[in-house]
Amino acid sequence: MNARTKSRNAPQDPSPFRVEAAPLPRAKFSDPERTAAGEPRATVPLTRLETLWINTGTLCNLACATCYIESSPTNDALIYISAADVAEFLRQAGRAGTREIGFTGGEPFMNPDFVPMLGDALEGGFDALVLTNAMRPMRRHEEALLALRERHGDRLTLRVSLDHHTRQVHEGERGSNTWQVAMDGLHWLSEAGFSLAVAGRLLPGEGEPEARRAYADLFAKEGIAVDALDPARLVLFPEMDETKDIAEITTACWDILGKSPADIMCTTSRMVVHRKGEEAPRVAACTLIPHDPGFDMGGDLGEASRSVSLNHPHCARFCVLGGASCSA
Ligand code: SF4
Ligand code: SF4
Repeated sequence: MNARTKSRNAPQDPSPFRVEAAPLPRAKFSDPERTAAGEPRATVPLTRLETLWINTGTLCNLACATCYIESSPTNDALIYISAADVAEFLRQAGRAGTREIGFTGGEPFMNPDFVPMLGDALEGGFDALVLTNAMRPMRRHEEALLALRERHGDRLTLRVSLDHHTRQVHEGERGSNTWQVAMDGLHWLSEAGFSLAVAGRLLPGEGEPEARRAYADLFAKEGIAVDALDPARLVLFPEMDETKDIAEITTACWDILGKSPADIMCTTSRMVVHRKGEEAPRVAACTLIPHDPGFDMGGDLGEASRSVSLNHPHCARFCVLGGASCSA
């Protein structure tokens, strides 16, 4: 049993969202230029920095079974980033013409500097998107949030993780007694008139239309003001597991799949992280791969504007394939 599964309230059974596939062969995703079969690996250029994500730190009040960043009440591999460090990146983002600052963790509201840095982003004229589980850490800041909403209106959006439209699956992933607390947080945000979104997940084999309908029924029953049919308001994520086998993405995949690098998150975003043991924050290619040195793009946004080589299983399973296949 590792430290995460020993965390109070952590789910003990396997995640309902686990990926059933063979282990990933070691030869895959080992060379940024070429796939294991020797084909040229796909890359994604940064076309414009539309969204700059700030990782506030990996500490979280929960220890969800398949948290991709392995957050928990004790994991501080990404330390709390300071408001002063964020202010410097906000200046750089302003010069880059960035529209939106996203905040993710861990649970952002656990970082003692979080409310000041959120205020700085909004005062700087950016839209702000905060990913939260809407549980106690957020509820401690109700007054500050209401003041920010009063001043900045819908430029502040909170996106709440509700992993599934059923309590059973949500708690299977997040631990017992996590459903009602999250629902209470959603009710508070909705009734206070915040710009609100929800992040959910699809079970293996669960279709997106049916999941949207089920969330819509839930929100209607609960009186939560989120349009589940709007993909910007209910974001549904596909599966991810970096230890399981998946096809590598070659330059030929774009045509085979009818996709383009312009569809991929890292063409318009980057994430600032402060890793434990490092003197200063660094810029990672995206929100999904904060630790891999191959996806460390540099110490500032200028350095971080080069192309990303899709040399990680998340690039394939989560971003490009999303359940599709690109074998020729
Ligand atoms: S609430 Fe989010 S950050 Fe925290 S453990 Fe769960 S998935 Fe990870
Ligand atoms: S996982 Fe890979 S493809 Fe997806 S955004 Fe991150 S770097 Fe880009």
